[in-house]
Amino acid sequence: MKRFVGDALIAAFIIAAAAALAICFFAGSAALCEADDLQLSVLVKDRHDSVSLSDDSVFVIESNGFEMTVVVRDGSVYVEKCDCPDQVCVHTKAISSAYQSIICAPAGIILKIEPKGEGDEIIVAG
Ligand SMILES: [Zn+2]
Repeated sequence: MKRFVGDALIAAFIIAAAAALAICFFAGSAALCEADDLQLSVLVKDRHDSVSLSDDSVFVIESNGFEMTVVVRDGSVYVEKCDCPDQVCVHTKAISSAYQSIICAPAGIILKIEPKGEGDEIIVAG
């Protein structure tokens, strides 16, 4: 009897794990289920950099004569300060899920959360 209960638990666990995987798969983005699989893509004109979301960091981006201070904390990203005239990027709330973005039009900076590796497909023309 004990053995039966154990097997049933294992089976239930496997089914639950499979279901979780299936949900992630059918949702179209396994990355949404695993924060470690996300990265921050920083697009500045013809530059494209990737920043890890698993490590907290603060960095400054310079573009079009503006300086933007970006903070990565606990898997979220936000703009702490920016010299741009409209301050839209500063007022955009922190992003933490795949495909969310913060855009600073005056500076020409796009901060975008993407599943790891996806940014490699971006082709910059010119
Ligand atoms: Zn800005």
